[in-house]
Amino acid sequence: MRKITLLLFIICTTIGCKKNTTDQDPTAIKQAPFAIIIHGGAGTILKKNMTPALEKAYEEKLTEAVTAGHKVLKNGGSSTLAVATAIKIMENSPLFNAGKGSVFTHGGENEMDASIMEGKTLQAGAITGVKTVKNPILGAIEVMQNSAHVLLSGKGADEFSAERGLEIMDPSYFYTKKRFDALQRVQNSEKEDDNQSGKVSFYDTDIKNSKYGTVGCVALDQNGNITAGTSTGGMTNKRWNRIGDAPIIGAGTYANNETCGVSSTGWGEYFIRGVVAHDIAAQMEYKKVPLKEATRDVIQNKLTKAGGTGGIIALDKDGNMSFEFNTTGMYRASIDTSGALTVKIYK
Ligand code: ASP
Repeated sequence: MRKITLLLFIICTTIGCKKNTTDQDPTAIKQAPFAIIIHGGAGTILKKNMTPALEKAYEEKLTEAVTAGHKVLKNGGSSTLAVATAIKIMENSPLFNAGKGSVFTHGGENEMDASIMEGKTLQAGAITGVKTVKNPILGAIEVMQNSAHVLLSGKGADEFSAERGLEIMDPSYFYTKKRFDALQRVQNSEKEDDNQSGKVSFYDTDIKNSKYGTVGCVALDQNGNITAGTSTGGMTNKRWNRIGDAPIIGAGTYANNETCGVSSTGWGEYFIRGVVAHDIAAQMEYKKVPLKEATRDVIQNKLTKAGGTGGIIALDKDGNMSFEFNTTGMYRASIDTSGALTVKIYK
């Protein structure tokens, strides 16, 4: 018996009887953490205003988008591809205010904005005021990858996207009854406000009657690269080629592998003035505070005090996540580093 044990010991030490690589070899390569987080807009989203069918439709679309993005990461794909994949699904759905479901301008058109930023290279791309690009997030990626610029606007951005071979639609593709009715409601209540007080604020009426619906995604891939992207139709009844925060790097979108990636949604003017997405990354970089603390301070303290409404999603280099908003709801979903899926709508 002792001989057999001795023999087994010799065999084991010579050829290596390991239970598994991670148990015994501290240098064995562990799979790097990867994770993804998405939003479909924040605003006055209350359960009492939602039908079970609509709630289910939102949950299913959020799940589809986050799962598709996660699959890209799981297969070793880049965070940029994961962001594009998730956002494209939401842009193609009429549920969200981006791509197909974009809100209408004062003149009854759809003008869309999108941006993307990579945390490894700090490269970024954005388009604003496009009217024909089926998936504006792809236009932003083209600007980042295949132009010498960061932000293209209007007709030029539509032309550039077409030249890059992106799918171009007739503007009528972006018509949805729900969004057109919302425009009528906002314009009618604007007239009422005008009659009562002589004051007109399309923001106030928009907030009373509607909600934000921008979409966004932040992903961390297996190479430790963070990408953030945002896509929107802007705000109902916007005028004069108004541009919100979504295509503004540092306001609506920001990513830096050293800190985090952020995508914003809400009342864009406040996010631009507060440089919200960059402020979160800057707090982490300069104050060395964790992601949660930085996002809470920027949204619950600074944005709220300034009078702004909305929220953000953020993901740091270790895969920590944060959803932070000061509205009654935000469509959101994530798959964390352990593979756990979360889908939520209300506070
Ligand atoms: N932030 C967007 C804008 O101001 C709106 C939104 O998030 O829905 O254009």
